[in-house]
Amino acid sequence: MNINQLVRKNILHLKPYSSARDEFKGDASVFLDANENPYDNGLNRYPDPLALSVKALISKQKNIPVEQIFTGNGSDEVIDVLVRVFCEPRIDHIITLPPTYGMYEVSADTADVTVHKIALNADFQPNTHEILSHMNNHSKILFICSPNNPTGNSIHLETIVTLLEQFTGIVAIDEAYIDFSNKTSCLKMLEQYPNLVIMQTFSKAWGLAGIRLGMAFASRTIIDLMNKVKPPYNINQLTQKVALQALTQVEKTNKKIQAILKQRAFLEKQLNQMDTVEKVYPSDTNFLLVKTKNANELYQFLVKNGIIVRNRSNILLCEDCLRVTVGTAIENKILLKAWKSFKN
Ligand SMILES: *Cc1c(COP(=O)(O)O)cnc(C)c1O
Repeated sequence: MNINQLVRKNILHLKPYSSARDEFKGDASVFLDANENPYDNGLNRYPDPLALSVKALISKQKNIPVEQIFTGNGSDEVIDVLVRVFCEPRIDHIITLPPTYGMYEVSADTADVTVHKIALNADFQPNTHEILSHMNNHSKILFICSPNNPTGNSIHLETIVTLLEQFTGIVAIDEAYIDFSNKTSCLKMLEQYPNLVIMQTFSKAWGLAGIRLGMAFASRTIIDLMNKVKPPYNINQLTQKVALQALTQVEKTNKKIQAILKQRAFLEKQLNQMDTVEKVYPSDTNFLLVKTKNANELYQFLVKNGIIVRNRSNILLCEDCLRVTVGTAIENKILLKAWKSFKN
């Protein structure tokens, strides 16, 4: 598969912005090349455009070479950059598998790129046959969210492999929730599939939604193209600093993940015992999709009690469902107490 044939011509020929840091990379004692303020306050210099020290630690942890890692201002920027690299406005399209994360569609809409939606089946798995029979030369990116938001399940590995082998565009797998799952990441498949892009984020398991740091892992060709298109200093200095700290204290993150998983099991069990709950879907994430009686009324009732969950009851295949993020032990108890007092 020749990735360059999938790329927009203008991006292939794009001459990227060349920053002062790109043009001189050596050691020196006096830097007067970037119009920075010379008075040191810890933040007066531009950050490393490629966040290489952060990537070095990610590389070690994930066992993926630095050259195959892209960092973005959240996964949201990763999604946006992918669309801009591969999709010619009004000509190409992306494929999404609803119900799923909303940003794939918003990024495409912003770029005037059409979205073809092929719904998941009743088991929340991709309809492989329909996707492949729909595909043509303009199907540039297939977004697969696994584990999927808002359904909480993982996409079967065999299905992902089938799609990777047969889809002729980029297959972008959004693994935002992978650290809450006992299924394996697709990272191991990178070497085999030049059209595979895997997205992960610091926003969920790492507990750092506030720093806006997302990652993509892909072949070097794809990563080079993404770096060409991104804004020069997309990962700010404060973000790089906090990410470095987190990456040197992995145990802290792992402990929090374990606590959340314990609470997820507790919440699931308690919710299943309630009269108003029809089904708690199995979850590989830090949230539960819950089918309820009178979802809209229950949602409003919880709001009145100061508890906000996500009302997904108007979404395809999620009729009468609320999406509940796993909170702290105290928050979950408050939720359960209020929920129990709801009379439908
Ligand atoms: C929360 C979430 C993200 C995270 O996006 P960031 O921009 O990294 O905060 C990505 N994908 C999915 C499916 C999510 O639910």
